[in-house]
Amino acid sequence: MIADLPPLDVSTRIPRLRGRLEEAGVDALVVTGMSNVRYLTGFSGSAGRLLVGPEQALLVTDGRYRTQSAEELAAAGVEADVEIGRPPEQQEVLVKAATAYRLLGLEEDHVSWGWKRALAGALGGQTELVATAGLVEGLRRVKDEGEVARIEAAASVADQALARVRPLMAERPTEEELALALDYEMRRLGAGDRAFETIVASGPNAGKPHARPGARRIGEGELVVMDFGAVVEGYRSDMTRTLCLGPPATGVLAAVVEVVQASQAAGLGAVSAGVGGAEVDRACREVVAAAGWAEAFVHGTGHGVGLDVHEAPALSVTSTDRLEESSVVTVEPGVYLPGHGGARIEDTVVVVAGGHRVLTRSPREVVVS
Ligand code: ZN
Ligand code: ZN
Repeated sequence: MIADLPPLDVSTRIPRLRGRLEEAGVDALVVTGMSNVRYLTGFSGSAGRLLVGPEQALLVTDGRYRTQSAEELAAAGVEADVEIGRPPEQQEVLVKAATAYRLLGLEEDHVSWGWKRALAGALGGQTELVATAGLVEGLRRVKDEGEVARIEAAASVADQALARVRPLMAERPTEEELALALDYEMRRLGAGDRAFETIVASGPNAGKPHARPGARRIGEGELVVMDFGAVVEGYRSDMTRTLCLGPPATGVLAAVVEVVQASQAAGLGAVSAGVGGAEVDRACREVVAAAGWAEAFVHGTGHGVGLDVHEAPALSVTSTDRLEESSVVTVEPGVYLPGHGGARIEDTVVVVAGGHRVLTRSPREVVVS
């Protein structure tokens, strides 16, 4: 059900990371974030560490992944030494290799204090540990053709799942039933997984941005926020639609929908290569503020999407990120009125010169008749 996808360009990534080591003030980097390990090697296991030096790439993992790691690295065309062992043996191999370097970078967002202490103790005084942030994540911000194709395929799966589930609304299902139906359809359509725990929030629950689906039955005229995504070959999509069985029951709810639609359109209109994440956020926020609901837009406007559902760049008030061509980001303003209801509309888009291309294509219309 998922069309043929162009290959991922994995083998150029370790060389590109090497090009960033000097600037980061390290001789080598131990990659411990599993999405980063996957990005650099193609290895999709749940445990492992990757040491990257100017001429070295060493992956250590455990016996569960002996065959899988070899297959995935070969498929990706990645040349790296792979050492298999129990955790203490992995650590020994890693330490031995790491002593060749004077300044050894660790990913500060992906190590535990305990592991860092143990590593420092095992290395002795010759090798100094250096905290690094965002080295691989920086590479991941700009997607290649194969990555965009996978995110687009994941978005298409979510679109088709919603099209199948939409008619169920008329039967007044519970939030849980709708969420389960979305998850089931995404898997049937070829998704490897859901991108995150599906959100279905109805009526007053829609006034909470990240409500968990519960046993509440959907009623006519209330807003139902559905936030969900699929995973295709590791890559995620992220989309929110707000639906309403019949017209919104109150003028306030109708106004919330109109304002969120206008805000999202303004945000999408601002997305373009070279634009700051804070600028896109401002475009969304101005529309909401003009309607008097500035305080009801309680989260950032968007985020990057890829191997992780939340990654760089950020689109928020405090963001210093700048959008680059071939970044994939979400635009998802919302208005939440506690106890009453709320709406959010979210699309995943790829940034192009002078604008964007929308990957999540479900209709944004709210009323289901
Ligand atoms: Zn979302
Ligand atoms: Zn999102």
